[in-house]
Amino acid sequence: MIVSNCIGAFPGWYVATSPYTVGFVRLLIRGAAVMQRPEAEVLPKADVIIEGRRFAAVLPGGGAQGAFDRVIEGEGRLLFPGLVNAHTHLAMTLFRGLAADLPLSRWLNEEVWPRERNLTGEIVYWFSLLGLVEMIRSGTTAFADMYFFMEDVARAVEKAGVRALLAHGVIAPTPDRVEPELNKAESFVREWEGKAEGRVRTALSPHAPYTCGPEVWKRAVALARELKVPIHTHLAETADEVEQVRRERGRSPAEWLESLGVFAVPVIAAHCVHVTDKDMEILAAHNATAVHCPTSNLRLACGIAPVAEMLRQGVNVALGTDGPGSSGRLNMIEEMRLAAVLGKQKAGDPQAISAQEALALATWRGAVALGLGKELGTIEPGKRADAVLLDLTKPHLQPGYSARADLVYSAQGADVATVVVDGQPLLLEGELQTVDDTEVIERCRQLARKFQ
Ligand SMILES: [Zn+2]
Repeated sequence: MIVSNCIGAFPGWYVATSPYTVGFVRLLIRGAAVMQRPEAEVLPKADVIIEGRRFAAVLPGGGAQGAFDRVIEGEGRLLFPGLVNAHTHLAMTLFRGLAADLPLSRWLNEEVWPRERNLTGEIVYWFSLLGLVEMIRSGTTAFADMYFFMEDVARAVEKAGVRALLAHGVIAPTPDRVEPELNKAESFVREWEGKAEGRVRTALSPHAPYTCGPEVWKRAVALARELKVPIHTHLAETADEVEQVRRERGRSPAEWLESLGVFAVPVIAAHCVHVTDKDMEILAAHNATAVHCPTSNLRLACGIAPVAEMLRQGVNVALGTDGPGSSGRLNMIEEMRLAAVLGKQKAGDPQAISAQEALALATWRGAVALGLGKELGTIEPGKRADAVLLDLTKPHLQPGYSARADLVYSAQGADVATVVVDGQPLLLEGELQTVDDTEVIERCRQLARKFQ
């Protein structure tokens, strides 16, 4: 079967150089409760047919006929769209638990950045795999990442079978770093865009308005236009950083980036905790995505992003864990719960950020963030077959009045039984199919010794 590899919410963007061939496999997920999208009623029992890399049919009530290469029994399971972690730094699993209670600037300056000088590609590869094991086991099928040694992150993604939007993080505190850093970012895009059978996409990532000067931003925008990739950055994470940008640039970080033409390309802006009405207007007007990272923001006492207000103003809001160094976990089921409960607190309204909205942040809105809104995020014929089966028989999910509410407020990452990406099972009834987690854990514990 020849599968077209033209993907994109941005017209003309993300067109890979050639189609690719996959073995034609028919997969049946039989008799699960199915949530096709957060806004739809959950089907109490349905058969879902996957052909090759895509969903082919959803049959309410079941009754699928014909021959299948593989049947996954869905009895007692909820099938829902794969979760999208729209902002993380996967290989920072290396720094999990290190100097855990410092403020962001001290944590970065005193603990993380000095240690990052000793990173190698091998270390990044194994700690990325460690992060991928955790993500797959808690239902994440796609993620956006910026870090260093990205070719090694990409190799880990290729092996594990997930989907990712990857970028070399550009930090250029002095003018002599601008050229080499941007060159590194560009060659990563040129080498990896569309690789791993189309599962790896790329972006450019100037780290943040307070770590990159105007030269970096202008050059990054020109490059993003030329390479047809989005920009993934951090925006308005702390009040201090906003204050610094206002002092140095005379505007808010979002206004400053707009003045440099950054929003002329698709932008994924992590955090957006300290945004003004004007900032939200800018994000909405340019179809940029704000990525809410509740655990990381809480742990670093950065504040609570105004998610309900951003959605009201028309901003696409997605959900992320941020790096496991700051958040401690790569568990999107937990981030959904936090997004819902914090969203209510922030808005002063228990009806704000419903379970349905929290699920939208973690599924189709995340797909839109990655530029894959037409391809991912819901279970519909024609879309990429990225989905999760959750075990509904657990005691904390009883008596089971609402699968949607139970998934957001009561489920745990460990309730994920099976994960499928592009029609390929990566986790099958709790058994990883592509990665040996015992080996990964052993290697990581060994490699971590010199970082203590
Ligand atoms: Zn981050």
